[in-house]
Amino acid sequence: MSLTDLESKLRDRSLKCTPQRLEILKALHEAPAHPSADTVYRIVQGRFPSVSLATVYKTLDTLVEIGEIRIALVSEGKTLYDTRMSNHHHFLCRCCGHVEDVDIQLDCMENCLPQVMGKYHQVERSEVVFHGVCQKCFQPEI
Ligand SMILES: [Zn+2]
Ligand SMILES: [Zn+2]
Repeated sequence: MSLTDLESKLRDRSLKCTPQRLEILKALHEAPAHPSADTVYRIVQGRFPSVSLATVYKTLDTLVEIGEIRIALVSEGKTLYDTRMSNHHHFLCRCCGHVEDVDIQLDCMENCLPQVMGKYHQVERSEVVFHGVCQKCFQPEI
């Protein structure tokens, strides 16, 4: 996504492409994958000490709205954001909170869940969160 693309997307919504908004977007891409608002806030604060957590939250909301980023999942009350927009799933470790992309094709849409498909007017996508314990946290009992 180029700067001009973002600018025009923001302008479409009568939103200004402020330096703070740009910094927040940059921080999202610099942060480790699936950052929380706190993580983004800490990065932005390094360059923009005056930025508030509320601004970061608001900007993240806006970026989700314009389709620039999306919400990966909510873990322990924290929303984790994703700059990767292509369809993928996630694994969440219940011990360390590690989140990882899971790149598999799930045929839920066509095969597993015809009941779901029939129940709603339109189902556009499905994302699965696999919950469990990651390799690092797994300690076999001796
Ligand atoms: Zn873990
Ligand atoms: Zn992801």
